[in-house]
Amino acid sequence: MERLQKILAQAGVASRRKCEELILAGKVEVNGETVRELGTKADPAVDTITVQGKPIKNEKKIYIMFNKPKGVITSASDDKGRKIVTDYLKGIQERVYPVGRLDYDTEGLLLLTNDGEFANLLTHPKHHVPKTYLATVEGIPHGTSLDKLKQGIKLEDGMTAPAELEYKDIDEEKKEAVISITIHEGRNRQVRRMFEAIHHPVTRLKRISYGGLPLGNLKRGLFRHLTKDEVNELK
Ligand code: URA
Repeated sequence: MERLQKILAQAGVASRRKCEELILAGKVEVNGETVRELGTKADPAVDTITVQGKPIKNEKKIYIMFNKPKGVITSASDDKGRKIVTDYLKGIQERVYPVGRLDYDTEGLLLLTNDGEFANLLTHPKHHVPKTYLATVEGIPHGTSLDKLKQGIKLEDGMTAPAELEYKDIDEEKKEAVISITIHEGRNRQVRRMFEAIHHPVTRLKRISYGGLPLGNLKRGLFRHLTKDEVNELK
């Protein structure tokens, strides 16, 4: 027996929090009875569970790593007709959704899954999952500026948590630097805003690792399934 919101999230209905909202809104039935209590337990192998009248599917869980090119939207649809990440997932039948998001202009590692529980675990702010980016920035920031970002800097939505930063390349001629930055939060456009705050705007941003899992040599625009060990490491 499992809690209903966990069963729904695992079936790929939505994130755990969204599933809780569905239950509270009276949209979930177990064996024909509407359930509004979040603590309710059920057994997906025995009970008939429906959401808005439709039975949930016990789909096989899949976990995908995608190397997102820039100029692609991290969402299931786009009303402006721009490219979306699922356009690249040829041959994937399951309805997967992204674990967190990358900006339109950001490239690199994006995880996609139909396991809502897994997605929730990785994106919940309380778990402080590390995400590492390579940021190419205008100008060559001083060590003291990077120290500010390491310690935490004030943005419009409050102080950032401590971050790890390292110079990767300095190009005196082009007057730009490549810096790796690891953050443990996932606020909107956070890395870009952090570098803007020290007056070194980001010109290129690539995520190279998520929860310790590296992008490796996966080519831009391609995807691969995670191994069982990789999934277990992330959990
Ligand atoms: N920080 C950003 O600024 N953009 C991203 O896409 C991810 C992190």
